[in-house]
Amino acid sequence: MVLRKSKLLWAFVLLVCIVLLGSGCGNKSTPTAPDSTTGTANTQKLAEPSQASTSSETAKDTPPSNQSTATPSPTQSPPTSTQVNGTLQVHFIDVGQADSILIKASDGTAVLIDGGNNPDGPDVVNYLKSQQVKVLAAVVATHPHEDHIGGLDTVIKNFPVKAVYMPNASSTTKTFEYFISAVTAGGAKRIQAKAGVTLDVPGLTGQFIAPNGSAYEELNDYSAVLRLTFGKITFLFTGDAGELSESEMLKSGQSLKAEVLKVGHHGSATSTSNAFLKAVSPDYAIISVGAGNDYGHPTASALSRLGGAGVMLFRTDQDGTIVATCDGETVTFNKKGSMPSSASPTTSPTPAIQPPASSGSVSIASIDLGGEVVTLVNNGGSAVDLTGWKIVSEKGNQAYSFPGGTTIPPGGTLKVLSGPKAVAGTSALVWTKSNMWNNDGDPGALYNSQGKVVSSK
Ligand SMILES: [Zn+2]
Repeated sequence: MVLRKSKLLWAFVLLVCIVLLGSGCGNKSTPTAPDSTTGTANTQKLAEPSQASTSSETAKDTPPSNQSTATPSPTQSPPTSTQVNGTLQVHFIDVGQADSILIKASDGTAVLIDGGNNPDGPDVVNYLKSQQVKVLAAVVATHPHEDHIGGLDTVIKNFPVKAVYMPNASSTTKTFEYFISAVTAGGAKRIQAKAGVTLDVPGLTGQFIAPNGSAYEELNDYSAVLRLTFGKITFLFTGDAGELSESEMLKSGQSLKAEVLKVGHHGSATSTSNAFLKAVSPDYAIISVGAGNDYGHPTASALSRLGGAGVMLFRTDQDGTIVATCDGETVTFNKKGSMPSSASPTTSPTPAIQPPASSGSVSIASIDLGGEVVTLVNNGGSAVDLTGWKIVSEKGNQAYSFPGGTTIPPGGTLKVLSGPKAVAGTSALVWTKSNMWNNDGDPGALYNSQGKVVSSK
């Protein structure tokens, strides 16, 4: 049956919460502390301009749309163990071909990553005001390109800013000059963003994992990359980091794993390598990009790699401003998103659902469309951990992620139920009380934690 998507999404969110609480996986852990030995971040003066800004990405200015978001109200009280404080919202503000991301905690703590192009400044200010932002605990200026710092001078003039994190990179542009002048006039503490530096904002747990080097040809590779953890959910904000920075992050041995990835460099071909994607292993990806931009972003190759990773993709050029709401256990979005095709741009089109990557021992035994029951079977000789696995209904484009720690014993079966009559049991999980499967035929696919299809029906 086909239901209205928005209702269906909220029902899904609600029921995932219930499943998580009911399955004993609801022990809210204290967010993983990043390297606490780092203590407060280094404060360093910026070097004199050594890197001229070369590419001047022009603005395709789209005012941020004012999306209202609702926090899903759980139907059960949360477990009594350590809790995260309220919810965390991450707003990927639609600033056209540029980046601007607002991170906002329930207590009002706000951090802004980038501020769009020069003309976006007033729109970003208005958006922050619409979200009741009064003070910015930190501004992260990922790198000195205009599409990232262009609007920040206006933002800094309109809000008290406690700290500005920026890489040790500069530019000879007027845009950079205005930005630095605004930072100086505003009196914010200036902190060099680089791998190992902790985001020093009370209530938020974040650490920079790039840049790892100190001299790059590409200004993009200086991008400050922030990894932010809230409860069990991690966000990775990559700025415009390219392949070189990605490979350095991989080599550094830092954990890159994140549920939500802000895709690097607006989906350019030279970011989001397969190796990087594999290490991050995101469930959701966001591309901040302007419709019809001159750069061909996002590129077919980046989309193909994201498709191969089985992510749910959101794009500001298609979805407008995207708001992710995180309760520490799950993350939900105000937009529907889509699963990008993994079809290679240079080869003939392949079906959206790939053939099984490996036979594996877990497969879909059946999908009862009318009864809303997916039955998985483990034909192998050992238990299989389904953490990070998901089921996707192709027609409805809905995904169910297995709660962490879900296992299926050798020879065992596991049912994933949906629909109004769904009731959880010892070997049955409830996806949602909504009907997820189209009775006229709806292929389903089982993805493993690497995002590979292991079974489809
Ligand atoms: Zn950019």
